[in-house]
Amino acid sequence: MSPTIDTKAAAVHHDLPTPDPETPMRPRQPYKLSTLCVAVENPSMKDQYGSSSVPIYQSATFKGVGNEYDYSRSGNPTRSHLEHHIAKISSAARAFAVSSGMAALDVILRLLRPGDEIIAGDDLYGGTNRLLTFIRTHVGVTVHHVDTTNPDAVIPFIHPTKTAMVLLESPTNPLLKIADLALISKEVKERAPNAIVVVDNTMMSPYLQRPLEHGADIVYDSATKYLSGHHDLMAGMITCNRDDIAKQIAFTINSVGNALTPIDCFLLLRGVKTMAVRMDRQQATSQLVATYLHSLGFKVHYPGLPDHPGREIHQRISDGSGAVLSFETSDKELSEKIVGSTRLWGISVSFGCVNSLISMPCVMSHASIDPATRAARGLPEDLIRLCVGIEDSSDLLDDLEHALVDAGAIVLSAQQNKYVRVPPGHAALNKAVEQLSIGSSSIKGVEHEWFVSAPGKVILFGEHAVVHGVTAIAASVDLRCYGLTTPRNDGKLSAHFVDIDNFQAEWDVESLPWGASAPLGQSEMHPEDLDQQLIEAIHAGPLRELGSNQNRASNAALAFLYMYIKLTSAHRPSVHFGVRATLPVGAGLGSSASFSTCASTALLLLSQRISLPSIPPPISAGHPHLSHHGRHALERYSAEEANRWAFIGEKILHGNPSGVDNSVAVFGGALTYNRPGFGKPSGMESIQGFGSLRFLLTNSKIPRDTKKLVAGVGLMKQEQPEVVGSILDAIENISAQAKRSLADSTEFGRDNLLRDLSVMISENHRHLVSLGVSHPSLEIIREKTAAVPYNLSTKLTGAGGGGCAVTLIPDDFNDASMKDLLSELIGCGFDPYLTSVGGSGLGILSPYPEHRNLNAVVIPPWQVTPPETPDEAANSPDPKNSIQTLFETKSLSELTGWANGLGKWLYV
Ligand code: PLP
Repeated sequence: MSPTIDTKAAAVHHDLPTPDPETPMRPRQPYKLSTLCVAVENPSMKDQYGSSSVPIYQSATFKGVGNEYDYSRSGNPTRSHLEHHIAKISSAARAFAVSSGMAALDVILRLLRPGDEIIAGDDLYGGTNRLLTFIRTHVGVTVHHVDTTNPDAVIPFIHPTKTAMVLLESPTNPLLKIADLALISKEVKERAPNAIVVVDNTMMSPYLQRPLEHGADIVYDSATKYLSGHHDLMAGMITCNRDDIAKQIAFTINSVGNALTPIDCFLLLRGVKTMAVRMDRQQATSQLVATYLHSLGFKVHYPGLPDHPGREIHQRISDGSGAVLSFETSDKELSEKIVGSTRLWGISVSFGCVNSLISMPCVMSHASIDPATRAARGLPEDLIRLCVGIEDSSDLLDDLEHALVDAGAIVLSAQQNKYVRVPPGHAALNKAVEQLSIGSSSIKGVEHEWFVSAPGKVILFGEHAVVHGVTAIAASVDLRCYGLTTPRNDGKLSAHFVDIDNFQAEWDVESLPWGASAPLGQSEMHPEDLDQQLIEAIHAGPLRELGSNQNRASNAALAFLYMYIKLTSAHRPSVHFGVRATLPVGAGLGSSASFSTCASTALLLLSQRISLPSIPPPISAGHPHLSHHGRHALERYSAEEANRWAFIGEKILHGNPSGVDNSVAVFGGALTYNRPGFGKPSGMESIQGFGSLRFLLTNSKIPRDTKKLVAGVGLMKQEQPEVVGSILDAIENISAQAKRSLADSTEFGRDNLLRDLSVMISENHRHLVSLGVSHPSLEIIREKTAAVPYNLSTKLTGAGGGGCAVTLIPDDFNDASMKDLLSELIGCGFDPYLTSVGGSGLGILSPYPEHRNLNAVVIPPWQVTPPETPDEAANSPDPKNSIQTLFETKSLSELTGWANGLGKWLYV
């Protein structure tokens, strides 16, 4: 291929026919590009009716023989108009309209032969990478990805005969890196005269940059973007000045049949007419947005900023900075929150539209590039790309500011009376202001004590019957498991499960079996199956001393270590994890699920995989943006993530859990559950809004063998199918009625709900007795509570465990009677707990100072263990008063009150 440039053809296209004949007295200046964009004139294709807009020739064929048009795949008048117009504004002799930007690149890449080599940028559009990978693996073309922003990096790869193509983008998307198109074209021509320089000009459009003027041989645009401007069509444009290349391109398009349809040609022509005004406005706003973000201290990528690398080169080659910019927040989750918080900026891939768009390239447009390659190419996972539209610039800035505030990336500074950026590590957890803990824990992002809690569960109706397809109703019980992580900063991980066999252990963080587990990406899901290799490695390593003793504490430690290794491999925090449980452990009340929920939530917070809602800036600052704030509830997505991981913990503890217990522990309230395989819809359905109910929960402390009890009911069903069948039907009716009563309680009143539940509790218990799953101690509890003057309804709860009973306590039940009843039950050797059912799920003690009860907290709330120097030791608070010590030594009866008194708890 010879690089003959048809300069004559290139020159004529700026020559629009003018309304008046030229006079030597008053010569006309050449039209500006913005004028050329609007004037769709083709002197050689006059419309027979003088239509002022190019008509759509929606015709596949044309009559006659030997005419200019015969078949639309080969040529179409609407397309010819478009191609002529684009050539004119691109300093090109020829232009070709195809079905998309990728189709344009595909047509261009078909110029290559097996054995050819391409030099391409290392920060290319993801789709371009994908196609290059395809031709490398299927066509036998070698692709060298190099940093084209550095011409010296390109030169070593130029081979005089093998290099057939050099593919450039400038600025690149989304990092806006600048390549010196003119210099690289020159270097390539000197070293490999037959190589074709191709430029993807999508980010700029011909209005801002015309690489053919700087030595490129072929330029293509995704016309889906600025050329059309409205995101209402897909198109690609190829322009060039070389006849030989043009012929081959025309041949390919005609052979493949990917030319643009007449109606899309029409739409694209219409779009191009407004390109100049659109781009001018979009660009002006982009400059404002980039300057704003830069002033807040974010790392901003935009050629319009004074310190943007390669800015002078860009200014030499182009006519403007464009309307795409990107910025880094240093935190992927924070970026996700920002992107999710905008209203005017639409979340969308692509750019170039009149509407402003926001996206995260690593999870959207560039997701097709594997994470390792993205990392190798320096594409930050937290990068946010902004594609500025034509909306009013003040609205766009205002919306962005709201999103930054909502996400916790900026806060109002009372002293400066303006928004300031929250330092990166802090913004990640939306702490927004100060930390709960004090002291310097520079170790890998662990700065807080995280105090979390989760409720246990009771089965209100349907236990045992659920195994045979009957609906069960489970509800949260406000006896809780609590978890507290405290930074250690000494390279050790320790755990103390005070109420689970008083388990205590300490490990060197680096000695844990990190190598046994593939690291899990920050937003990656845990696979469905447990990582058996990791489980074995934990048994053989950190739990080695416990041998194969599968007791409750070692199982809990296994679940904790499994999640710790999976979730924190990136930062491996040195922390202490303390656990308390006000609910009886191993009594069938979901203690393992509430333990798993506490462990998963604390670890997710430590590894910054979930975040807390932002809190309002101080009202006294009088900023107008206060209306969007005030959410305190834990956000749903964080809760769902905690639940997913709690289920993993449950799998470790139980093998094959139903997921009911962890869902109740996280979401609170109540839910119905149906097992799969009974010909009706299976799964869980939440019942909320009935307000919590007072229950007395009595642990009979009689160990029960769940498996045996379940097997007993199964046998009875086989032997007496009709009797058991009718009992199961009756329980199903109770569950259905209970579900309706709970769900409709706001409509029918609380008194009715309590009365209904009381009847159903007694009835369900009778059925369980008939199924043979009660036992004498439970019957004593039932009789005691039913006796005068109490008149309360009691049933056994759960399929086994420790054999607990639940007793519904009406709202007006008097305190003196309650006291008597409690002492009677204690007198019989039972453990009664007065609690509530159906209340909140997962809770996190708010880390915001505004939410702390400073009187209740021992100040400072935690100490660094061990103090590193005697001096520090002198300054550290009394370890006896550390939050950790108090947490682990409080009596069970004091624990809940003490925890609640620390400050505000944020609940799901
Ligand atoms: N080149 C760049 C720089 C792009 O951003 C895109 C699309 O986003 C393309 C090419 C592909 O264009 P199309 O989607 O029209 O096929």
